[in-house]
Order: sequence, then C-alpha cells, then structure tokens
Amino acid sequence: MEKQYRLLYDENLCIGCQACSVACRVENSVPDEVYRLQVHLHTKGEFPNLGMNYERLSCVMCENPPCVSVCPTNASFQSKDGLVHIDERACITCKYCILACPYHARFINPLKNVVEKCNFCYETRVSKELLPSCVSICPTDALSFGDMRHKHSLVHQKSHKEVLVFPKAHLGTKPKVAFIPNRKGMKS
Ligand code: SF4
Ligand code: SF4
Ligand code: SF4
Repeated sequence: MEKQYRLLYDENLCIGCQACSVACRVENSVPDEVYRLQVHLHTKGEFPNLGMNYERLSCVMCENPPCVSVCPTNASFQSKDGLVHIDERACITCKYCILACPYHARFINPLKNVVEKCNFCYETRVSKELLPSCVSICPTDALSFGDMRHKHSLVHQKSHKEVLVFPKAHLGTKPKVAFIPNRKGMKS
C-alpha cells in the first residue's frame, strides 16, 4: 500500500465539545438529519459516583471492508492507499453497503439520494496534505492522524506508546481508526 493512514481517538482527552462533528458537517455539506461523525456520551451510575465516557462514531476505514465486497456496481471501492471511497455517479442506492457495514457508518444523503460516509476529508484535505477537518479543529488534541510509515509522526509515536483498541477487531475488518481507551471515565 502507498500509505498507511491511521486516525487515533484518545477517549481520555475528549471533552465531548462536538467541534469535530460540526467541522465535519460544514466541510462535507452534510444535511442536518444525517451525520458522517458523531461523538456520543455514555454514563454509568449516579452523582457523586458518576462515570462518563465519550465514543466516536464514524467510518473506521476497514482494510478488509465488507461494504466494498457487497457493492454490485463498484461504486464502493478501495484506493491504493487503502481508503474506502464512494463513486456517487455509480451508486444505485441499493443499500447493500449500509446493511453490510458493522459500524453503522453509512447513510443516504437525502439531498443527493446516494450513499455517503466519512472519507477522512480525502478530496478536500488529506489529498492536499492537510489533516481531516475533525482532527484539525479538536481543541484538546484528542484526535491525531497521519501515515504510520513516518516514524517521527505523532500518530506513529502515540500508537507505540499507548494501548490501542481497534473497534470490533474480532470481525477481521482491520480498522484504520483506533481508540485509546478511557482509563478513568466509566469507573463509578
Ligand atoms: S466502517 Fe463500514 S463504511 Fe467504513 S470501511 Fe468499514 S465497512 Fe465500510
Ligand atoms: S448503495 Fe451504492 S455504494 Fe452502496 S452497495 Fe449499493 S451501489 Fe454500492
Ligand atoms: S473535537 Fe475533540 S474534544 Fe471535541 S468532541 Fe471531537 S474529539 Fe472530542
């Protein structure tokens, strides 16, 4: 593969401000009723023994993407750098990919009537050596992104320093998005 992109989400640093999801919506003109990225709050127990945790919900850019293998028109495809994209012109809105995605990351854009999902802001930002809009706006540096082949990059260094969780790893999808799990929040 030409690149080995990774996006890290550090649950310990996330304050749930939603700046990332707003930036995503603006960058990608996502209509109000759907989303490419959400950050959910989970709570456990009651005050003063209240545990809290934030969870990022979006496409995790599987290296083995079930959404691509089910697509009858090749509208869903994987590029040489391993990212999963959608060719809107070829999408017939059959919804197979929506059903196949174990991360519930895909939706139909009601304005265009085609399937969409997070693409790491590839066309508008990453292909121009810019960070995805969510990463660039996060005020606490909870998000980091880059090419794992660059040993001095933040994403490479953090990946080797922290314990990483790859969501639903047991499915064999090999996500490019990894979480640094909350060390404190859900204890109550
Ligand atoms: S998270 Fe879903 S939409 Fe994204 S690559 Fe994986 S299967 Fe496809
Ligand atoms: S909805 Fe579009 S992208 Fe998804 S499987 Fe059908 S043709 Fe492919
Ligand atoms: S912008 Fe950063 S701190 Fe705010 S919700 Fe998103 S990941 Fe969390």
